[in-house]
Amino acid sequence: MDAHREPANRPLPLVPLRPGRCWCPTGDPDARRVREPLARELSRVLERFAAEAGATHDRPIAVELRPGVLGHHRVGRAADLYGVAEIGLAEWKRRWDRALRAAALAPDRDAARLVLARARRTNLGWRLYRALQCYGRWAQPYGYPIQLFGPWTRDEGPWRFIGDKLLHAHRDHIHVAL
Ligand SMILES: [Zn+2]
Repeated sequence: MDAHREPANRPLPLVPLRPGRCWCPTGDPDARRVREPLARELSRVLERFAAEAGATHDRPIAVELRPGVLGHHRVGRAADLYGVAEIGLAEWKRRWDRALRAAALAPDRDAARLVLARARRTNLGWRLYRALQCYGRWAQPYGYPIQLFGPWTRDEGPWRFIGDKLLHAHRDHIHVAL
């Protein structure tokens, strides 16, 4: 038997997510080990997100990852992002919802527009989600939605019909798989 031959069903090796120029991964080191295609896509999108958000090599944005256990996580094809700039995504979502309420209560349209524009500029949780959605290419298993879920999925897509249970499960993190 050829000792160098690998079994056909051998899982792809995992690689560590490395810090980019404008962002750096934090959190559980095990959670940062993913398959190479996912590492490459995440790094590309996070770099663009961080640069657009004004981060630099000297002042990179931290993106916190924590381990997931189900489905794609078992084979390193998924990552769970729990925080950005040292603030948890649940808190970013609370701030976002507060801004929406403030906009709804604004005295006129211009005032509402200003509140929303400010939230879009300063809410890094929402910006991270939008960057993953607009710039990333994620898995879409046959018969399933695109594998990007988070606190903003129902409002921003891609899967606006996400059920209450799945949305609740992603109230404090963003899940991507590739
Ligand atoms: Zn996950």
